[in-house]
Amino acid sequence: MSGRRILLLGHPVEHSLSPAFQQAAFDSIGLPVRYEAIDVPPADLARVVAELRADPMIMGANVTVPHKEKIAPLLDSMTDDAIQIGAVNTITRAGSRLVGRNTDIAGFRAALDGLLDGRRTPRHALVLGAGGAAKAAIAALISAGIAQLSIANRHLARAERLVAELRKSAPHLTVRAAPWHEGLLVEEAQVAGLVVHATTLGLRDGALALPAAAFRAGQFVLDVVYTPGETALVHSARAAGAEAADGGEMLLLQGAAAFSLWTGRPAPLAVMREAFNKATQTSRP
Ligand code: NDP
Repeated sequence: MSGRRILLLGHPVEHSLSPAFQQAAFDSIGLPVRYEAIDVPPADLARVVAELRADPMIMGANVTVPHKEKIAPLLDSMTDDAIQIGAVNTITRAGSRLVGRNTDIAGFRAALDGLLDGRRTPRHALVLGAGGAAKAAIAALISAGIAQLSIANRHLARAERLVAELRKSAPHLTVRAAPWHEGLLVEEAQVAGLVVHATTLGLRDGALALPAAAFRAGQFVLDVVYTPGETALVHSARAAGAEAADGGEMLLLQGAAAFSLWTGRPAPLAVMREAFNKATQTSRP
């Protein structure tokens, strides 16, 4: 007889840190829930979602790469945050209906607030990337009051599409697409008070999206990439005097937001952070 469960659907999922800190959260408040990572190849996604819907003991799920966008049409409804960025990272259950949500926006916003630590949101931000994480970051930046935004992406057309959408949904924002050209990116970064890195560069290979010349003192840098230790981008930004943070806090805080949605309770953040740090140390290569 299996008890209540929360699933993490992804492919691959074995390196995810979410099971460690989510399970610690459930255990710490005495909720008998098992958080279980399940490797779901794309061809199996529809079947797994149908099984999830049919099993009331499954309270919900997290969704990660590569299913965040593809899962949307398989669900029964979506909240505004998930619709806004076209990606689902959290599923909750309402009876037999599955609701798609996105807590990456809340996670990014909380990580940004932590980095700013009470200081004013810079007026001008440069965002590198135009995928799901970049869209979540941009939604959070808009909520934080950014006035001017440059979006640089390797495939410029993707950034241009995003800019066109933002001109409709956030008309007060001054927004432009910037080409993926090193010299131009350095200039853009130098004038921006906040640089957000949201590409997959640096995830596995330490590759840098920006050269050291892009960074300066008085600038904030938020890298959504998370690797054990310091990402190469954060290292480079700090060496130039910028205040920088990697994606660890965003990961933890989007998880805390999801926990509250599943349970209706505040997330035990200190417990989750401790489990996250411990899991990080054991996953260090
Ligand atoms: P997507 O696949 O949606 O987007 C990938 C982005 O990376 C695109 O902008 C893509 O550009 C760019 N990119 C890929 N390869 C290169 C390259 N060689 N050179 C330049 N740009 C490149 O992925 P996500 O947005 O979901 O994820 C992006 C990163 O954010 C990942 O590292 C992921 O781990 C991280 N992330 C962190 C979270 C956290 O909680 N900390 C949450 C979600 C994501 P193009 O369009 O030109 O292909």
